[in-house]
Amino acid sequence: MISQDLRQLRIGHGFDVHRFADCFDPAKPLILAGVELPVEKSLAAHSDGDLVLHALADAVLGAAAEGDIGRLFPDTDASLAGISSAIILQTALEKAGGKGLKLINLDLTVVAQAPKVSPHAEAMRESLAALTGLPEGNINLKATTTEGMGYLGREEGMACHAVVLMGPDV
Ligand code: MG
Repeated sequence: MISQDLRQLRIGHGFDVHRFADCFDPAKPLILAGVELPVEKSLAAHSDGDLVLHALADAVLGAAAEGDIGRLFPDTDASLAGISSAIILQTALEKAGGKGLKLINLDLTVVAQAPKVSPHAEAMRESLAALTGLPEGNINLKATTTEGMGYLGREEGMACHAVVLMGPDV
């Protein structure tokens, strides 16, 4: 039998992918989980392209049954050009908060052949802790490649999977 407390837990999943821009634009640095990576790569995106925060925001909206970030922030809206993904995540957290849901833990997997993400994983975790208010012990961030296979293996872009658990704000 499932207790009433367990029934209030909500799981959410998010996935995002962005392709690399044809050339590096210093005005559009590579930002992952709110951290600017020191690499000469830019992502093609209407926002700042932070696919880690996009996947996370979608996971939060998923847990709250609130749709997806494309609905909240349409890429056809010119006023949203270059928007910081921290705002997107904050909006998702507020939507979930409106339903009495707070993050419990999150698990993220960045998939990319290049650039290497693991050297920046700790900085990204710290940033995620600041952005979500979660202790770092409740945040996991992994990085993997596709062993050269497929569009990510050909270094055409990067992707991120996010899973969150949310529960009542007690
Ligand atoms: Mg995106």
